[in-house]
Amino acid sequence: MNTSFFFLFLLLFHSLLFGDTRTIYDIRGASPILDANLTRFLDVWRADTITPIQNGTYSDVIVNGNPERKTIALTFDDSPDENVTNEVLDVLQEHKVQATFFMIGSPMTDINATTVQRASREGHLVLNHSFTHPRFTKLSDEEVFQELNASSSRIQELTGHYPLLIRPPYGSINASVVRTINTHGFTAVLWSLDSLDWAIKEKDPIVENVLTHIRPGDIILMHSGRSNHPTAEALPEIIEKLQQEGYTFVTLSQLMGIAAYR
Ligand SMILES: [Zn+2]
Repeated sequence: MNTSFFFLFLLLFHSLLFGDTRTIYDIRGASPILDANLTRFLDVWRADTITPIQNGTYSDVIVNGNPERKTIALTFDDSPDENVTNEVLDVLQEHKVQATFFMIGSPMTDINATTVQRASREGHLVLNHSFTHPRFTKLSDEEVFQELNASSSRIQELTGHYPLLIRPPYGSINASVVRTINTHGFTAVLWSLDSLDWAIKEKDPIVENVLTHIRPGDIILMHSGRSNHPTAEALPEIIEKLQQEGYTFVTLSQLMGIAAYR
């Protein structure tokens, strides 16, 4: 066996054993019906956000899973609400798919609290999307911690689990925010595929966008807040088509092989 062949073999063996877990994707997601200015704004935001993660300036921000496995994670932000979250939960239940919810702490009262408990009881991850949905980059370190702790504590009261995985509202992070999140034992989770369901309020373009841009290991950003009815409508087709293409849906902790709760 010559030397280069030997190293090729080693490389292959290594990636079989450990997978390629360090590749950090660019954030995808586009639609012809999206406003051109918004598309330009998004391109800049994505590049500014992902570059320091890809070059190692922030070491503990999750963007995607293993690019060599056809496992993907659906993540839903902005719940709980009284309608759409339950519609999404119904679709997931029908399709026997486990997903991940990043929920906001302050609306977790009355009937919405029941929705939080339902999501947890049905095997989905209920994780932290802050208490009041502010931009963390505009807050002090202490305020960021208060947002994280208040929401995880509320989720723990309702589900018994204190989440350590957090999705910063608007994906708004910088070096100082990431440091604060990590210092208190939390990990920030972004996404690699934006369904754009927050901007496109129509079922078909949402489906089209996700199916066109999907890659193995993707973390898909979706929403299940009050205004996200089209997301619940788009979800059955997204799940069915991707399963036909050989994709398996898993929770974020299964995708990354990490614990979601303290
Ligand atoms: Zn949000």
